[in-house]
Amino acid sequence: MSKNKKVRVRFAPSPTGHLHVGSVRVAIFNWLFARHHAGTYLVRIEDTDQERSTKEFLDSQLSSLKWLDLMPDEHILYQLSRIEEHKKVIQDLLEKNIVYPCFCEPSMQTVDYEKKEETYVEQEQCTCKHKTFSADDLKQPHALRFAVPRGVKTVEFDDAIRGKICVDVDQINDFIVMRKDGIPTYNFVVVLDDIFMNITHVIRGEDHISNTPKQMFIYNALGASVPVFAHLPLILGSLGNRLSKRDAAVSVQDYKRQGFLPGALFNYLVRLGWSHGDQEIFTKEELVQFFDFDHIGKKGAIFDIKKLEWLNGVYIRAMDFDDFLRAIDDIDDNGDHDHKEALIALWEREQLEKLFEQYKARATTILAMVQDMLSLGKAPKVLDLGLIQKWITDQSVDLLVSFERNIATLKRFEHEILSGVAKTVCAEFEKKLVCLAQPLRLALTGKTVSPGVFELMEVLGKEDVLERLNVLIKKLQEH
Ligand code: GLU
Repeated sequence: MSKNKKVRVRFAPSPTGHLHVGSVRVAIFNWLFARHHAGTYLVRIEDTDQERSTKEFLDSQLSSLKWLDLMPDEHILYQLSRIEEHKKVIQDLLEKNIVYPCFCEPSMQTVDYEKKEETYVEQEQCTCKHKTFSADDLKQPHALRFAVPRGVKTVEFDDAIRGKICVDVDQINDFIVMRKDGIPTYNFVVVLDDIFMNITHVIRGEDHISNTPKQMFIYNALGASVPVFAHLPLILGSLGNRLSKRDAAVSVQDYKRQGFLPGALFNYLVRLGWSHGDQEIFTKEELVQFFDFDHIGKKGAIFDIKKLEWLNGVYIRAMDFDDFLRAIDDIDDNGDHDHKEALIALWEREQLEKLFEQYKARATTILAMVQDMLSLGKAPKVLDLGLIQKWITDQSVDLLVSFERNIATLKRFEHEILSGVAKTVCAEFEKKLVCLAQPLRLALTGKTVSPGVFELMEVLGKEDVLERLNVLIKKLQEH
């Protein structure tokens, strides 16, 4: 490829499922590469597999791309819209004997969708290449095979990530370019469309490496220049397997609904398998500036949900309250829940703002924050004393009762004042603050981990706090 040619890349999902995080990482790398080189980033929808492509999946994939700000720079190309063109080119190649008819029965499983490979009858068993068919024969349904040129021993290409890749031509069978039902195959149309779209760099998952030599033959047969190929390592589950539902949620939509932020997911997926020194948190501008193929690892990268949660927390802490309200819409986008309405029904805006400041300190996801805020709105259903066993002493009841009396008369129910009272009471009883704070936390939230207990008290207000405290005191007295 000429060095001065303007970079044009494409992301080419098939709408046969919700957008997988592995796929969207391919989109992100394409986008970054295009931006880094001031080139063009395109999207092509590979919808020729009509049995498995659905409108629902298409809409869901596009909405995931929009959410991550990965919509293309030019209009989307739908592969199916070019099918007549694809067929014309095949006819042309047929006339030139570059493809030939094959009347073998396809094996039961004609398409390996994972690899996008047609597993027709192995070529060794197919003798169609050497047969001549009559015009009448050719009226019967048949497939078309690409006659792999056998004049060279090997085919090689310089992968921008993995370096030189060399394959023995003997290993490549004459492959099917049009199925018996008249549908051109993936390996064929992908090349035609990449030529049509003037793609300079094909950046995709390494599961496509085995397809690349076949596609190179087609470029050569069409007299077109071969683009640069860059095959990205896959995302792996914790056992080194390909990331699947057993390891973690796999669709972008699931991450959105669990309350991950688009910026955090984007940052995480880039950093997964690509590095720039030890830096973990990047602005988009930095990613565009630093991105290159040289620092993409050659091995698959293990998906680490804990790290994603940590990173999401970092992004949540950078939000303001209005960002937070907007982010709640994303977790509600399937229409099953209305978390925002539930929060607003429970809390005044001022209270919510304070809770947001409190909960964001340890936040992992928007959904977890919202659930905590909703559950704080109601007194805990059960108080499990076992959780605070280590802080219960003979004096616990007296300590709590003393604290309760002191706060009951407060005019200003503010966290600094409440914490002052707690310290004084603990000093009187010669107890550490935690001996009061943990039972209080249990009384208020039913849990032993929460934001600052005095801050929560301020939000809940005196009446509510006294009521919740009483329930605990009663329970301790009966204990
Ligand atoms: N539709 C193919 C896939 O989803 C894209 C292949 C390519 O990028 O060449 O895997």
